[in-house]
Amino acid sequence: MSDSTRELIEQMKAQNPGEPEFMQAVAEVVESCSAVLDRHPEYRETRMIERMAEPERVIIFRVPWQDDHGDFQVNRGYRVEFNSALGPYKGGLRFHPSVNLSILKFLGFEQIFKNALTTLPMGGGKGGSDFDPKGKSDSEVMRFCQSFMTELARHIGPDTDVPAGDIGVGAREIGFMFGQYKRLRNEFTGVLTGKGLDWGGSLIRPEATGYGCVYFAAEMLATRNDDFHGKTCLVSGSGNVAQYTIEKILDLGGTAVTVSDSGGFVHDETGIDREKLAFIKELKNVRRGRISEYAEKYPSAVYTPVDPDLDHNPMWDIKADCAFPSATQNEINGTDAANLLANGVMLVSEGANMPSDSAAVDQFVDAGILYGPGKAANAGGVATSGLEMAQNSMRLNWPRDEVDARLQTIMKNIHAACIDAADEYGTPGNYVNGANIAGFLKVAGAMRDQGLV
Ligand code: NDP
Repeated sequence: MSDSTRELIEQMKAQNPGEPEFMQAVAEVVESCSAVLDRHPEYRETRMIERMAEPERVIIFRVPWQDDHGDFQVNRGYRVEFNSALGPYKGGLRFHPSVNLSILKFLGFEQIFKNALTTLPMGGGKGGSDFDPKGKSDSEVMRFCQSFMTELARHIGPDTDVPAGDIGVGAREIGFMFGQYKRLRNEFTGVLTGKGLDWGGSLIRPEATGYGCVYFAAEMLATRNDDFHGKTCLVSGSGNVAQYTIEKILDLGGTAVTVSDSGGFVHDETGIDREKLAFIKELKNVRRGRISEYAEKYPSAVYTPVDPDLDHNPMWDIKADCAFPSATQNEINGTDAANLLANGVMLVSEGANMPSDSAAVDQFVDAGILYGPGKAANAGGVATSGLEMAQNSMRLNWPRDEVDARLQTIMKNIHAACIDAADEYGTPGNYVNGANIAGFLKVAGAMRDQGLV
């Protein structure tokens, strides 16, 4: 790393104290783009990276609600409207007790580049709350969502800011929030994506992040004349992204052998087939139960609870060919990465956002494995949200095959854009640099054209 790059990162850290996740995301982009700044001194002069790392607007608000016992509760709501150079702010809402400004700024920042890679007209944003939907009744979740939207509604709109789901925000929460927006504004409009199919949602949107992540992995494998047949895959998480990742791995001839939640992981050596996957979907989406139940139902599986004293996750120490982290940020650390590599993993495709910490990323890149960073590999979700926006604008619904074909084309194009940018800037095969550089150039060009804003 050059002295000027190090200096820039240090300066930005000083401006954003106490935001480690955000600075982790920024530092990676700064490092990747140093060669771009050398070739484009105008971007250094106009402090383009510093501009991009400053959100256009951050909204923080109170979300009061009443639980089923009549007790008063107060949570904090956020919307980070990061960059609108390419279109309305676009990015999910996360409801999880760990949510804070650093996490939402990292997610919003990554979203700018991811959305640029999709080539659809979408800016970058992210939001959410420290509200924990786990263990809450449907009525409590509804009251919370209505209160959250009562404030958020004044900041969003189909041409301004179009939120979607993320951790803890699925079809149920999107429905409650959409209904409240409609009451407040008296308009039926595509203000949220991930809507129900009968009221403006797009076919393939629920599947899109997981499917897209596997399509991206298939593109990476194809560069080595390889495919999914016979591949053993580790998948973390058991929510939206994990479920459809497993489904597409099965479609393409591979086998997923793990799933997890915040309590622990399940290892099923015999593979998660379609019947077992249906069980996971019902368990997680309908009954909202724990993944340990999988091992109670299927004797072929072993459940390992999280051990907080371990410095690594034993799930990443299982022999496999491919890994699909699909739970949360920094779930793979340096030790986990070393274990994955020692066990012969030759591909990592990130369904989650920033699931590998910087020590892990360095190891994957140095080892020369096929490593698809989240902002490229999981862009299929937001891309299909973009397709949902397009359908809403036209008041039309495209058939499943059409949306899936568009998703596949978008993932192919993102893969090609990463390869081209990495080649162009002298780091062939480095998808991290490729994704950051391709995204940066597109957004920086638009900001320049618009007066740098
Ligand atoms: P869900 O809420 O559907 O599922 C999240 C899964 O991850 C659950 O199994 C959850 O377990 C687990 N998890 C969450 N937080 C933690 C944690 N701190 N430690 C261990 N496990 C955890 O979310 P999604 O599947 O939608 O999102 C998963 C990841 O994919 C996130 O990083 C998200 O940002 C990213 N992503 C999602 C997109 C989408 O379209 N949904 C698009 C692009 C990226 P538990 O139930 O115990 O909490």
